[in-house]
Amino acid sequence: MRCPLCTTNDTRVVDSRQAEEGRAIRRRRACPRCGHRFTTFERASAVVVIKRDGRRQPFDASKVRLGIEITLAGRPVAQDAVDDLIATIERAAYSSPGSMEADEIGSLVLEGLRDLDEVAYLRFASVYKEFQKAADFEKEVATLEALETPTD
Ligand SMILES: [Zn+2]
Repeated sequence: MRCPLCTTNDTRVVDSRQAEEGRAIRRRRACPRCGHRFTTFERASAVVVIKRDGRRQPFDASKVRLGIEITLAGRPVAQDAVDDLIATIERAAYSSPGSMEADEIGSLVLEGLRDLDEVAYLRFASVYKEFQKAADFEKEVATLEALETPTD
């Protein structure tokens, strides 16, 4: 692990212990060159996503990104905002106890999109909430309008 201060490639582990109830290893590292001490966390990267039909598959942030980018196609949303939303979902996934419902991920995406772009939010909501009829869609629009704060 490289020293974040002087970028020396070789740092020493001076302490290592369990963290987050065993889901992570916390390490204190020291740089022999500049003396800087810093902390790293090691976590299992395998988070399992449980789909509605019970199927399980590994969490894959690139799939989440793809889904969000498809939803945002043609919408004026900054790349930074998309990256932030994906980072939020990754944090939630990697701080989960090893598995996460696909619905939870969907609802995080939905919440994030609501702040970013209404059109994308409605696009995603129509799939995520499996709208059966136009009335559901209208209800969602009404909810969204009710949430809006006056802008004058
Ligand atoms: Zn250093």
